[in-house]
Amino acid sequence: MTADVRAITIRRPWSSCIASNQPGAKRVENRGAGTSHRGILLIHEGKTVDVDAFADRRVADLLTPHRDAHEQPGVGAVIAVAQLTDVHYAAGGGCCAPWGEIWHHGPKSVVRAVHLVLADVRPLPRPVPARGALGLWTPPEDVTAQVLWQIPKQVAR
Ligand SMILES: [Zn+2]
Repeated sequence: MTADVRAITIRRPWSSCIASNQPGAKRVENRGAGTSHRGILLIHEGKTVDVDAFADRRVADLLTPHRDAHEQPGVGAVIAVAQLTDVHYAAGGGCCAPWGEIWHHGPKSVVRAVHLVLADVRPLPRPVPARGALGLWTPPEDVTAQVLWQIPKQVAR
């Protein structure tokens, strides 16, 4: 039986902040739309870098002293596996601090942010190359297989 798996493409340095196991690592992804998916979410790192994000205090605090490594182009691969445990609109007064934003700046307008809450994030020993996409996407079966064999079975079942 194949697990229900989705993937999400995230740019550096945000992807680095999610794949991190340091205290204060990013466990909320801010998006402009929700999803009914729960469970396994592959964290795919795109190839472009959000250079401005290095000025973000949360990012700087988390990635110091390894910032240089994260300024390199992204790997274009699945770098971690997470459990998507909850999806909700940002509360009016804010929630999911410090990573949860209240507003999401989309291509056309600013909308209330949707928080994708992540748990049990496991960085992969060997990132799995894949082509990214917008929104949540279904990874090819061979990619899913190469990811899941790297993590303990209780995560995938
Ligand atoms: Zn929240």
